[in-house]
Amino acid sequence: PSPLSLTELKALVRTVPDFPKPGIQFRDITTLIGDGAGLSSSIHHLAKIARAKGAQKIAGMEARGFIFGAAVAVQLGIGFVPVRKPGKLPIKTIGIDYTLEYGTDRLEIDPDAIADGERVVIVDDLIATGGTAIASAKLLRMAGALVEDAVFVIDLPDLGGTDRLHEEGVTVSTLIDFE
Ligand code: 5GP
Repeated sequence: PSPLSLTELKALVRTVPDFPKPGIQFRDITTLIGDGAGLSSSIHHLAKIARAKGAQKIAGMEARGFIFGAAVAVQLGIGFVPVRKPGKLPIKTIGIDYTLEYGTDRLEIDPDAIADGERVVIVDDLIATGGTAIASAKLLRMAGALVEDAVFVIDLPDLGGTDRLHEEGVTVSTLIDFE
């Protein structure tokens, strides 16, 4: 079967009002990945972009980035690097602290996960402010990666993440957006 169109993918995303706090419209991908055609078509479209960018490895952020990122890596026949929440990896990690709207968070990776100069494409479900993806790009670069591209299922353009990533030298591609 031919992959679903981007318009059809968008219709599979569920919008949940007031999560995780009042006033936020959460774009929930549970319904998208719960649909067989929705899941495979999302991966198809993401993988096509990652392939065109010359990805040698895919990095995905815990936890929803694991779902899409690992599947894209399989599609391309390349490796996957998990960008993890703190304290999860059983080895000596490298980490980066970054600021959120309220407070700070931290991401960690295996410093040996990437060969020097390897072209790593970041994959996640959604880009909002871009904070998570920028921190990930910096961390991957610390490990020797060449990070020039990031691919997301969903863009929230009003939050300006795409422009912020551009300023860090990362080109953003997205499948669908919600104003
Ligand atoms: P950013 O760091 O760009 O502000 O936020 C993006 C990160 O937060 C991504 O890892 C994404 O999974 C998560 N995120 C923020 N808002 C949403 C949302 O409305 N829906 C989903 N699925 N994830 C979100």
